[in-house]
Amino acid sequence: MVESTESESRKLLGRLREAMAGDNPGQARLDKITHLIGDSIGTEVCSVYLFRDDDTLELCASEGLNVESVHQTRMRIGEGLVGRVAKFGKVINTPDAPNAKGFRYMPETGEERFSSFLGVPIQRLGEMLGVLVVQSKDAREFSSDAVYALEVVAMVIAEMTELGAFVGEGAALSPLHQQPVLLSGTAAQEGAAEGHVWLHEPRVLVTNPIADDPEREQVRLGEAVEQLRMGVDKMLEISQNGDKEQLEVLEAYRMFANSKGWMRRMEEDIARGLSAEAAVEKEQSQARARLSQAQDAYLRERLSDLDDLSNRLLRILTGQGAETGAELPEDPILVARNIGPAELLEYGRNLKGIVLEEGSVGSHAAIVARALAIPLVVNAKRISTEALNGDHIMVDGEQGVVHLRPDDTVVGAFRDKIAMLAQAQQRYASIRDKPAVTLDGQKIDLVMNAGLMADLPSLENSGAEGVGLFRTELQFLVRNQMPRRSELVALYKRVLDAAHGKRVVFRTLDIGSDKVLPYMKPNDEPNPALGWRAIRVGLDKPGIMRMQLQALMRAADGRPLTVMFPFVAQADEYRAARDEVTKTLERERILGHALPESLEIGAMLETPSLAFAPQKFFDDVGFISVGGNDLKQFFFAADRENERVRKRYDSLNVSFLSLIEQIVERCAISGTPLSFCGEDAGRPIEAVCLAAMGMHTLSMRPASIGPVKSLLMRVNLADLRRVIFASRHRGDQSVRGAVMRYLREV
Ligand code: PEP
Ligand code: MG
Repeated sequence: MVESTESESRKLLGRLREAMAGDNPGQARLDKITHLIGDSIGTEVCSVYLFRDDDTLELCASEGLNVESVHQTRMRIGEGLVGRVAKFGKVINTPDAPNAKGFRYMPETGEERFSSFLGVPIQRLGEMLGVLVVQSKDAREFSSDAVYALEVVAMVIAEMTELGAFVGEGAALSPLHQQPVLLSGTAAQEGAAEGHVWLHEPRVLVTNPIADDPEREQVRLGEAVEQLRMGVDKMLEISQNGDKEQLEVLEAYRMFANSKGWMRRMEEDIARGLSAEAAVEKEQSQARARLSQAQDAYLRERLSDLDDLSNRLLRILTGQGAETGAELPEDPILVARNIGPAELLEYGRNLKGIVLEEGSVGSHAAIVARALAIPLVVNAKRISTEALNGDHIMVDGEQGVVHLRPDDTVVGAFRDKIAMLAQAQQRYASIRDKPAVTLDGQKIDLVMNAGLMADLPSLENSGAEGVGLFRTELQFLVRNQMPRRSELVALYKRVLDAAHGKRVVFRTLDIGSDKVLPYMKPNDEPNPALGWRAIRVGLDKPGIMRMQLQALMRAADGRPLTVMFPFVAQADEYRAARDEVTKTLERERILGHALPESLEIGAMLETPSLAFAPQKFFDDVGFISVGGNDLKQFFFAADRENERVRKRYDSLNVSFLSLIEQIVERCAISGTPLSFCGEDAGRPIEAVCLAAMGMHTLSMRPASIGPVKSLLMRVNLADLRRVIFASRHRGDQSVRGAVMRYLREV
């Protein structure tokens, strides 16, 4: 066999380019390149397998295997040696293929005659496109040089595939990124939206993977890397006083930008005939492939830093990127691998929908998307490699489904759904200014949850009677550093101004557990949900709490003020927090600031223990708001962030409703005002049941007020209560079945 030296590799790429030139059909090009590669590497067989659908590979061209097997031989991903290369994104190099792990005999190809096998993945930026294979009769392991040469060729084939060079007949040769794709993710904000893709990180297109002048390419790469290094140094200089985490990321960038290994590999790729861009992408593709397999969180982060850095380098080399010339479409649906809350806020309400490849329901980006009421699907695997800028896309934030480049039938059905939702919205708008009074004349107060300025217009639009939960930590979470007191005063003032006298319940900082401030050192706790969080932090480190209380009092500036403390587990914690309020009030008085006209101080009931506190606590506390999200997680011992167990326990489970009943009774005895502000308050069925159990103030996302009110107005709460009690009496585990039967008849 001819060992592939650099100049041979360059020669091969040069011949490949010639084979690609001209107007040949895709099949002819593929046939030519398998012939060229086999000839050049000195093997009897060279074959290209491409995906015909998500999990089936098809033999698309072969030099050396039976001609009849082309487009006939297929295998599923993971099946046979070829399937395994595609599944794991790793090279397989064996002198004795028939005895290698995973080998599958394909009689139609005649391949039993071949002993050695070398397969390399054809992949582009984490997207697996196919497998390139060479085989020979003699039993030999291919040299690392041969493996390397084949990887370089596979890279060029990947680029060419992306550019549509092999388009032909049949599914395996159909153009990429043009077929309809249905992706299932996780619903993170309801609503349905139709629009066009706007990529947060536009894909850089490499149109010249093969270079004729390696020296020139080396110079180009050198200059671009120098520019990149200078850029990173500059960012580091600017952020010297910034937050630690950002500095750490930049330090990692600097390390990679100066990495000799990274540079050497790219230089070698160029020496073998790749262009500077293709060399960067080859490295990036391999890093992405490793990223998809890596379990270790630290390694994943570093690999994604490297990915980011490669993107920057590609932009420098191609002059593409943020300035690709594309314009934000009128109906943009943002597609990204992930996005931070601050970046998302910058897009603001311009977006019609958001689809993230990663992310989670409880992520900060999801919180912002909810505040902006933009339909959001997270965990949509492959979206960032499948979608192209401008693609037609439909997002179903209820089902967690995304239709990319949908066909006409899907478009029709989806538009019907949007129309139905719009009709429902109209119905809700017509009752917006009406009170939520049930058929038996009980008035339920519907208030809303908020946390960002972006939420406040909803106070007017939704018909909410006030803000039942203002999550103050969101302002802390979307920043890179701790906000100053003056900033908080200004913000809370704007909130109170926007409320026009409606009651706003400010919850003090609820951090810890899933809410980690980007600029605070995370605590290494074995179980953060049960750890140092919320009021526990506030009482142990009262500086921030005092600053926040002061800011709230100054923002109230003589107006009424309502404050509540999160995650109170026992009466003493509430009392200690209340003492802080009293002390702050006194300090403000001495400093000569206007004091709030009235001051209500409440506690969130989020741990079962507080429901069993001495009655004296219920006498003392200003009001109670049940944080059902946390209460439920602790009551059922089921992590609210864990998709596996999150939905396992029904909120209408009789045990949980009995706990609610007990809280209602204890508040009634003391005459303590009571509300419920977890997600269940915004689910119509759960909401009417909570109301029937005696929760007469419900705080929810603004978008839920219409649907909840609409159902409340159609039920008789006394009847519903009887249905619930009868079901419990019968011994049902959940009252849902009985309630649904009842509601179907109303
Ligand atoms: C809750 O726990 O129900 C709640 C309203 O607070 P958060 O969701 O912010 O923890
Ligand atoms: Mg909570």
